[in-house]
Amino acid sequence: MENKSEDVVIIGTGCAGLTAAIYTARANLNPIVFTGTMPGGLLTTTSIVENFPGFPDGIDGYELMTKLQKQAERFGARVEFATVEAADLSKRPFVLTVDGERVVAKTIIISTGAGHRHLGLESEHLLDKKGVTYCATCDGALPMFRNQPLVVVGGGDSACEEAQYLTRFGSTVYLIHRRDSLRASKIMAERTLANPKIKPVWDSVVTEVLDVKQDKVTGVRIKNLKTNVEATLDCAGLFVAIGHTPNTQLFKGVLDMDENGFLKRTEGSHTNVPGVFVAGDCSDHVYRQAITAAGMGCAAAIDCERFLGAENS
Ligand SMILES: Cc1cc2nc3c(=O)[nH]c(=O)nc-3n(C[C@H](O)[C@H](O)[C@H](O)COP(=O)(O)OP(=O)(O)OC[C@H]3O[C@@H](n4cnc5c(N)ncnc54)[C@H](O)[C@@H]3O)c2cc1C
Repeated sequence: MENKSEDVVIIGTGCAGLTAAIYTARANLNPIVFTGTMPGGLLTTTSIVENFPGFPDGIDGYELMTKLQKQAERFGARVEFATVEAADLSKRPFVLTVDGERVVAKTIIISTGAGHRHLGLESEHLLDKKGVTYCATCDGALPMFRNQPLVVVGGGDSACEEAQYLTRFGSTVYLIHRRDSLRASKIMAERTLANPKIKPVWDSVVTEVLDVKQDKVTGVRIKNLKTNVEATLDCAGLFVAIGHTPNTQLFKGVLDMDENGFLKRTEGSHTNVPGVFVAGDCSDHVYRQAITAAGMGCAAAIDCERFLGAENS
């Protein structure tokens, strides 16, 4: 890869990055898009996406992302399998290091996504997508969880939201938390604990997800941290809601972020550095959906186009 001076560099090819690519390409900005190690982003890891508008029968996640990439390329976006390793945003044009090469950019759209935190259990890993999930909004309505006992792990706002959402589908929702009170905001905690379908399990952690031999979730082993007593809780699904880690380490100390590393937006998709825009889950700890990421990608592309337009006028 030669040294380049680009109008628009988009970092990441999830829903946010590829939507930004479609819009900036259609605006004749000839964007270059770096995929990182996960071309297509997180959605490629799921088989069926049932809530992306326009697909009444659902669509395979990999297929949806392949279509988004083709759509962006049709208008001239250049998608390159490469990872941004460093970013110098101290002055414009910005300088990125991409797989060891220098790339110069007038504007940057950051859409690097966020990874969910795991419990770190081997059984959790082995039963991923076989009853273990990290997104109630994405998976809660699946037939396998209907009228079944479900388990949510976590004690923050997200865990409470997931638990409440799951009461629409599950027979009982056990909320397992390592402390004896929820970390969530007061109103959220009160609403959660007042829900008759939600049963808190305090001072406890999941030590094993059952049952790897059956290749599906049938329950969890839990341990009370105060008494060390272990028990088994029958359930058909384990929803892990212990937080997300945004892929924003590259920008630490340069771009404003919250205490968990999510990039802060000022006006629209602007960051505190003029010419750097942000979209998708790396800047959103609330909604974390394909369609919201895509919407933010659209907004970032429009903001970027207007920013460049104002400079050139
Ligand atoms: C199993 C699973 C199922 C899901 N199901 C649904 C669903 O049914 N419906 C729904 O709406 N949502 C679903 N989601 C959530 C959805 O996948 C995310 O909200 C969405 O992918 C966020 O898009 P994004 O573009 O912000 O980030 P991501 O999809 O996470 O993409 C981030 C991109 O950035 C790239 N990247 C990161 N760092 C760098 C770097 N340094 N250099 C270059 N590139 C980089 C990555 O390689 C990747 O291409 C699901 C998530 C998971 C994990």
